[in-house]
Amino acid sequence: MSTSLDAMNSLPLREDLRGRSPYGAPMIEVPYALNVNENTHPMPDEVVDAIVDGVRLAAQGLNRYPDRDFVALREELAAYLGHGLSVENLWAANGSNEILQQILQVFGGPGRSVLSFTPTYSMYPLLASGTSTEFIAGHRADDFSLSADSAVRQVAEHRPNVTILCSPNNPTGTGLDQDVITAVYDAASEFNGIVVVDEAYAEFARDPEQTALTLLPGRQRLIVSRTMSKAFALAGARLGYFAADPSVVDAIMLVRLPYHLSGVTQATALAALRHCDQLLSNVEDIKHQRDRIVETLTTLGLKPASSDSNFVFFGGVTDSHALWEDLLTDGVLIRDVGIPGYLRVTAGTEEETTAFLNSLERHLHGQVSPAQSS
Ligand code: PMP
Repeated sequence: MSTSLDAMNSLPLREDLRGRSPYGAPMIEVPYALNVNENTHPMPDEVVDAIVDGVRLAAQGLNRYPDRDFVALREELAAYLGHGLSVENLWAANGSNEILQQILQVFGGPGRSVLSFTPTYSMYPLLASGTSTEFIAGHRADDFSLSADSAVRQVAEHRPNVTILCSPNNPTGTGLDQDVITAVYDAASEFNGIVVVDEAYAEFARDPEQTALTLLPGRQRLIVSRTMSKAFALAGARLGYFAADPSVVDAIMLVRLPYHLSGVTQATALAALRHCDQLLSNVEDIKHQRDRIVETLTTLGLKPASSDSNFVFFGGVTDSHALWEDLLTDGVLIRDVGIPGYLRVTAGTEEETTAFLNSLERHLHGQVSPAQSS
């Protein structure tokens, strides 16, 4: 390991990349993988068939480059989102990670900064370093909440070129009140700053109206990022997208690679969107399993955060890493997000969720922190 690290460091790396580590959620083969917030419900056969048919058709044209502007897909995404959006408001890329990277390529870069409020999605600092954008780790209250006052103060202090608000936030799972988003937008307007609301988990929100899409009209520098990786159960296809003012889409075109969305990706996403009712039918069950986790953890004396997503963040554990390892011995892989006393678990199918809860109950003995339990 150190030899390969030495070998890498002997390369003429960009100085700002030296000493950095790549994204590294453990990829371990286990019966119950509840660590990366995937949708673990199996893909319905009808949707698999529709995707295969679509990809088969696309394969006949793979000798040609695909539609560079993927108009059909953007139309379908706009129809799915509603809120009066149309093709010129929509953009897509290979996962919302690439969406965020493209945004930083255009609005960040050397000499510029991006602010987000930690703990939050661990890719933001990596996307910042990859685009030579300074990452500013803003802070939250002790209970991980973020008030409008606190957010505005930090935005005014740092004057970041880009502010990313993750709502529902990963890893804590809780959605932001709309007044925080509008207050941050107004504060960033003082210096022409971009505000991105990362809504990767929006479909799981307890209040379906809780989306920044409603805030888009009249806000040229607001971008709402979404993904098909979670509610749509399409993480393997890599399709993220955003909705924004058409001028933002024009700006992204300055940095996107030509033909970045393959014909196979476009066909897959189109087939999935045309079957969105079947695909999204599992969302209610996932929300039910999530609520079951929150209730059971509370009964066990732990401290789950309220969740608008398909995962639950919980505290009140004395040795969170030891508990993570104990669960793994039962084949249950959850996420140690590196915050002592806290862990994060994805809501799975009923069977997976039961396996997690049973394993947790078995191993929890002596693990509930008296200081935090009630
Ligand atoms: N945003 C958040 C908050 C996430 O948790 C994730 C994935 N875990 C992503 C974006 C990226 O998802 P994808 O690239 O699969 O769209």
